[in-house]
Amino acid sequence: MKDFISINDFSRDEIMEVLNKASEIEKNGYSNKANKIIGSIFFEPSTRTRLSFCSATYRMGFDTLGFDSAEGTSIQKGESLRDTIKMLDLYSDLIVIRHNIEGAARFASEIADVPVINAGDGSNEHPSQTMLDLYTIWKQFGKLDNLKVALVGDLKYGRTVHSLVKALKLFNAEFYFVAPKVTQIPTQIIEELARNKISYHILDNYNEIIDKVDVLYMTRIQRERFDDIKEYESVSGIYKINKASIVGKCKDSMIILHPLPRVDEINIDLDDTKHALYFQQANNGIVVRMAMMELGMDSKTVNKQFNDLKPSEKVLCKNPKCICNKEPTSNKTFSENNNRYCYYCGTVLKD
Ligand code: ASP
Ligand code: ASP
Repeated sequence: MKDFISINDFSRDEIMEVLNKASEIEKNGYSNKANKIIGSIFFEPSTRTRLSFCSATYRMGFDTLGFDSAEGTSIQKGESLRDTIKMLDLYSDLIVIRHNIEGAARFASEIADVPVINAGDGSNEHPSQTMLDLYTIWKQFGKLDNLKVALVGDLKYGRTVHSLVKALKLFNAEFYFVAPKVTQIPTQIIEELARNKISYHILDNYNEIIDKVDVLYMTRIQRERFDDIKEYESVSGIYKINKASIVGKCKDSMIILHPLPRVDEINIDLDDTKHALYFQQANNGIVVRMAMMELGMDSKTVNKQFNDLKPSEKVLCKNPKCICNKEPTSNKTFSENNNRYCYYCGTVLKD
């Protein structure tokens, strides 16, 4: 492992390697091997991701540099992401990047020689969140295989949902996608599940399935990703769970997860129930991110999927939110399952 950009780059074994490493760190602590500098650049707001990476960095005895908004940097003078990454590559041993543009992390990993961790690229992916989601589920159930998982809320723009579904598909989950039409799970993900013969259900209400599921993964409606605010308003506040709607109605062992921040999806009266694992989940972010940084910097191999990617004809990605349409990328694509995909944001390029 070197970069952590998309969950699609990882096999089951590689995911388990991260979780086992995190578990080892949680049990035995981490002993510092060498001094390292972590470059942390956040172009979008963040509380947990940035602070838990920061906390993980300090717990490893490393130093960190970077910024938590483009304000005050040369980006405001018009510097490109490409040049910013070139500098970070010189100043640090690993780069953690969050960006509002989809594919920005993949682009960064192409430019930098040091390992890159995607801390969220627009609506696309959030692999470190997924690793900590998986770690929480694994610790709770002692396994990841064959679980029934309901994802509720913003499945269209929620990058944590996209990454988590890609991961749990490798563990034969049965999915319940609970959302109104405007924020339902993208067709591209559904097609991928169908191709892999994974069971899924599309719903707009969780009541009928609440007694069936092992994991209830709540999400915030991602206001900042909507092009049309009226559309956002039509679905904002649509799912709100509380003690009365959950306790006694779900399985005794069901857990509630949320990548946080929550807005109004989970009433605080659920916080002290045994089902609520979202704060524990956020806490797990520290050891998981320590494990990811350790494995990234320790890497003897690079990620499988794109190693032998051949430069292809220039195909401009049709996703207007993709980095291809913002920076001078090489517009690479790759082929899989008789489809052609954008190398950066993973969008299927249909004619
Ligand atoms: N869930 C974290 C948070 O809200 C991730 C994030 O923002 O990065 O802070
Ligand atoms: N914190 C998570 C993220 O950064 C979820 C969210 O913002 O709602 O994607």
